[in-house]
Amino acid sequence: MIPFLDMKSVYTELKPELDAAYLRVMESGWFVLGKEVEAFEAEYAAFCGTKHCVGLGNGLEALELALRAWDIGAGDEVIVPSNTYIATWLAVTAVGARVVPVEPTPGGPNIDPERIAAAITSRTRAIMPVHLYGQPADMDAIMALASKHGLKVIEDVAQAQGAKVRGRRTGSLADAGAHSFFPSKNIGAFGDGGAVTTDDPRLAERLRTLRNYGSRVKYVNLEKGLNSRLDELQAAFLRVKLTKLDEWNDRRRKVAARYDDRLSDLPSLALPNVPQWADPVWHLYVVRTNRRADLVRALEAAGIGSLIHYPIPPHLQDAYAELDQGKGTYPLAEKLAETVLSLPMGPHMPLESVDQVCAVIRETFAA
Ligand SMILES: *Cc1c(COP(=O)(O)O)cnc(C)c1O
Repeated sequence: MIPFLDMKSVYTELKPELDAAYLRVMESGWFVLGKEVEAFEAEYAAFCGTKHCVGLGNGLEALELALRAWDIGAGDEVIVPSNTYIATWLAVTAVGARVVPVEPTPGGPNIDPERIAAAITSRTRAIMPVHLYGQPADMDAIMALASKHGLKVIEDVAQAQGAKVRGRRTGSLADAGAHSFFPSKNIGAFGDGGAVTTDDPRLAERLRTLRNYGSRVKYVNLEKGLNSRLDELQAAFLRVKLTKLDEWNDRRRKVAARYDDRLSDLPSLALPNVPQWADPVWHLYVVRTNRRADLVRALEAAGIGSLIHYPIPPHLQDAYAELDQGKGTYPLAEKLAETVLSLPMGPHMPLESVDQVCAVIRETFAA
């Protein structure tokens, strides 16, 4: 049996450090907005290469609160990828703005800058690129467009913590970066968590207010905020995980390289294509094939986990029925939804297991 993602080994590898973090918080008697969150924010900002980090409740609210902090809402348009996890879209519609989906580059996975240019209108306020699967989006081109048209850019870094574009970390490449610490992400908590990284002190200050009932001083409410705080226990765990993030991303790179090596000659399988300017962190290793159903069946029979990210693009979800964008509206995203398959991946996956997965794939395509 080869699991899609081995989560148990996280605790096995870091048990003494995680247990110590747990005890430190329990014995402190302080559980919300204390020393651990403050320390994690400083450490994570330093890791990303930004001046500020604000710990939040989860990744979706990190995206949403950044938009709210810029007063983006009704009447505004935000450019989002047609090919993404639905959270990216939900953040935009939650603030009352309109999603303007843009297709990926051919073969994907990320938003195509040339198509962004064609989607900008007088109502456009922001672009929200996603570094899907841990593959950085083309930020140089996106930032050039944003600067030409006076738009804000927020990176959705949920799947790409530690990735780089020309040596600079994702999360530091735009006006803001929204991070998720959902357990399965490259740096995950043991529960929910999120953050925004930024160099802008005004944005950071507004987020600190918004996450805490619109308040900076107890019982004095400057605006209608919400409750979206990273909690002390998760922050303490994340501080432990952060010390391993680069090393664990390196182990993911080795797994990806092994897949590349063992599968590159198969004509019916398209492997991830990494631009020379990008240093991805392999949140997922996603292949494309027209024979996906056969492959899933063979992997399942061999006890190997696989998943589809994502089987239904946001515009075809019932949640967005009101947009009336039926099948055929975003053909590139739809084609990806029909052909992508994520193979087992993770920092604890032995290379021998990669070889076993590859053997099953080769057998399937030889038949
Ligand atoms: C996980 C994820 C999110 C949302 O993060 P949560 O912490 O689960 O709210 C947003 N965008 C992308 C691309 C994600 O993968």
